[in-house]
Amino acid sequence: MRFYRSKFVLPIAAPPIENGAVAVDDGRILGVGKPADFDGPFTDLGECVILPGFVNAHCHLGYTDMAGRLPFRGSFTDWLSEITAWKRTWNAADYEASTRRGAQMLLRSGTTTVCDIEAAPDNLETAMEAPVRVLSCLELIDVAAPAAGELSWKRFAGLSPHAPFTASAALYRRASAFCQRTKRIFTTHLAESLDEAAMFERASGPLYERLAALGRPMDDCGRGSSVKLLDTYGVLRGALVVHANWLSDDDIARLARARAIVAHCPSSHRFFNHPPFPLARLRDAGVGVCLGTDSAASGSALDMREEMRDFLAVFSAVRPSEALVMATTAAAKALHRPGITGTLTAGSRADLIAVAAAGARDPVEAVITGRAPVRFSMVNGKAVYDEH
Ligand SMILES: [Zn+2]
Repeated sequence: MRFYRSKFVLPIAAPPIENGAVAVDDGRILGVGKPADFDGPFTDLGECVILPGFVNAHCHLGYTDMAGRLPFRGSFTDWLSEITAWKRTWNAADYEASTRRGAQMLLRSGTTTVCDIEAAPDNLETAMEAPVRVLSCLELIDVAAPAAGELSWKRFAGLSPHAPFTASAALYRRASAFCQRTKRIFTTHLAESLDEAAMFERASGPLYERLAALGRPMDDCGRGSSVKLLDTYGVLRGALVVHANWLSDDDIARLARARAIVAHCPSSHRFFNHPPFPLARLRDAGVGVCLGTDSAASGSALDMREEMRDFLAVFSAVRPSEALVMATTAAAKALHRPGITGTLTAGSRADLIAVAAAGARDPVEAVITGRAPVRFSMVNGKAVYDEH
């Protein structure tokens, strides 16, 4: 057992503790309290806030080195075509380098768990070598060619049919059944853009035209929203739905009934200039919302503090402590790890960080406004970053 002392401890699931301590034993949190509560070797992290590491509910580490290469020029469909073309020019080494750089960005900014969408299945090994906890979800697309076979699915923490316009009903159903049966994460991009809404609701628009030209069967279009479509497939139950920017009241009711959880990615949302995220309507319906970064290709610095700042700048009525919950415990729940990570609670995994708080009076504010690299980071009881 070793305990860590600092100016503040922010367990998230319990009130902040001034002059607090966190005891760690065998990869788990033994307890949280005052330094006098524990006896044994300790590390004084000084003028810091110790809190659970951030849980990033949606990321594409493999695209990190596309940062700044794919500006948004006003058409989501064109942007998708550009990133698809860009991906064709990349080889395994490009994805590896990108993944390593992205993992370092997460590490330095305090993320200890990430749900990473793997576009290149062979990149899994590189992702798993990252110093943070990577929950790798295999991206599935069968719009142009068959998706990776089920034999490879077992290697991943979850599956991610890309979106209703690139993954077929059969693929969604197979992937969902597999995840339900094996208790894996099932996540998908959904209701992200106006182009997607036009395609499914009215069988029109640029995305509709582009995919029809590629030979995609379009008989699922013109029948209602993409949320309704996935609900009809029966695949929304417990799903982690990413984006959900364009939602009717009926869509929200469907997400609520399915107990789906929404991952909102504030910097990506701003990058694409989407209309306001329907936070209040989702919350009123009881739909859980957590935060993710999405990829550096769509403008994220892969820094959950920056995502919280972006989010709070738009939703000024939300308390900073609520944003912190969305970046920790709520995201852990969405990734099937409630009480395991994203909280400092006796028995949870010792995934924690220390953020500089010299002169700070409010630990939540110190965490969210921090821009420097974290001072310390621990994953599974092992120090993976130490600058204190
Ligand atoms: Zn994404």
